[in-house]
Amino acid sequence: MQEYDVIIVGGGIHGAGVLQAAAAAGHRALLLEQRAIASGTSSRSSKLIHGGLRYLESGQFALVRESLHERAVHLRIAADLVELKPFFIPVYKTTRRRPWQLMAGLWMYALLGGFDASTRFGSVPRREWDRLDGLDTQDLDAVIRYHDAQTDDAQLTRSVVQSALELGGNIAMPATFVAADLDAQGAIVSFEHGGESVRARARVLINAAGPWAVRVSRAVRPEIPIPAMDLVQGTHIVLPVPTTAGIYYVESPADKRAVFIMPWHDGTMIGTTETPYVGEPDRVHPLASEEEYLLDVARRYFPSLRSMTRADITQRFAGLRVLPSAQQNAFDRSRETIYMTDRAVKPRVLGIYGGKLTGWRAAAQHVMRKIASSLPVRVPLAATDALILRKVPS
Ligand SMILES: Cc1cc2nc3c(=O)[nH]c(=O)nc-3n(C[C@H](O)[C@H](O)[C@H](O)COP(=O)(O)OP(=O)(O)OC[C@H]3O[C@@H](n4cnc5c(N)ncnc54)[C@H](O)[C@@H]3O)c2cc1C
Repeated sequence: MQEYDVIIVGGGIHGAGVLQAAAAAGHRALLLEQRAIASGTSSRSSKLIHGGLRYLESGQFALVRESLHERAVHLRIAADLVELKPFFIPVYKTTRRRPWQLMAGLWMYALLGGFDASTRFGSVPRREWDRLDGLDTQDLDAVIRYHDAQTDDAQLTRSVVQSALELGGNIAMPATFVAADLDAQGAIVSFEHGGESVRARARVLINAAGPWAVRVSRAVRPEIPIPAMDLVQGTHIVLPVPTTAGIYYVESPADKRAVFIMPWHDGTMIGTTETPYVGEPDRVHPLASEEEYLLDVARRYFPSLRSMTRADITQRFAGLRVLPSAQQNAFDRSRETIYMTDRAVKPRVLGIYGGKLTGWRAAAQHVMRKIASSLPVRVPLAATDALILRKVPS
């Protein structure tokens, strides 16, 4: 039986990040992915590497500070993959947040970002409004501009995996995790690979299965603690009309939720929704009602898109957020990642629940600290904030 320090289930951004961090720390690590790299949530996000401006309203300051730090790291180590873009927040007479409130929030955002050049913000002078992709200017009071970053999430994930492989990490794909049996030394992990049932030993099993994480945790024997989580669906659509000036951060006319309207290849991507989801994660798909909701947002702000219907949508995709179970609506729930181990000292299993694309590297560092007591001392090969990520073909 093959022996590893760490076996990771899931080839999304979190699994990729842990594979890279474990390999960089000199550990023997194996990643199992049932389909393809980034075939789950990590190819269906809003593709933003951002601090999360709106999390300031719910007081998630530590999350925003960490995310802004990670944004700065990405701009340094993944310059081919992550681009700083202007973001525009149009404020109309009926907009819920007034310009002074947005400015106060952006000041706090800049403070948490260390006031570096990327945190500059201000308002767009009225004479420049005609450069904003035909944004509706009727009853427009102000347009606030700040900066955040955009990426290709699947491409980023593949680049992190490539970096891990170069450091000696291993991957089995397609390989489906089936079960794990915990014992005094760690876990015996069973998976299907190449039509065969395989067993391998790990000192620690990392569950980075995203929306499938609860299912993976249930296949661990003896039973381990599993946090109460909900799945919430987020849909994006792409329309065949280009947006070039930047990313628009607008309020939905239906319920005042924030929605992004952004350039995506030669078109415009609009997202996202927040629809509670019950069922198999594999079956998630955009709903007609979500597409209508997103079209309504696009039509409200861009008169040139008023004739667009569902028939014009060139691309559509839905992903699942993993959020702590709660009564409040999905939009207001904590975006902090939950890390759950089978025990505090010498854990044999660690599950990653929730999290953000932006925070993958910090999450992987956190995981390595949490499992350090279970791992042998090895000679580190590299620090992940110094490993340059490059585009790899799909
Ligand atoms: C609509 C939406 C928009 C978002 N926008 C942003 C954003 O703009 N910026 C941001 O920072 N974050 C964003 N997020 C959050 C971010 O996308 C996710 O936190 C992140 O992609 C989750 O990655 P993951 O690796 O945990 O899960 P996933 O990417 O889902 O990866 C899990 C992997 O596990 C594999 N797997 C499952 N079961 C098994 C098994 N039994 N055996 C082997 N493999 C298995 C799956 O095939 C899958 O590839 C968004 C999320 C959603 C849903």
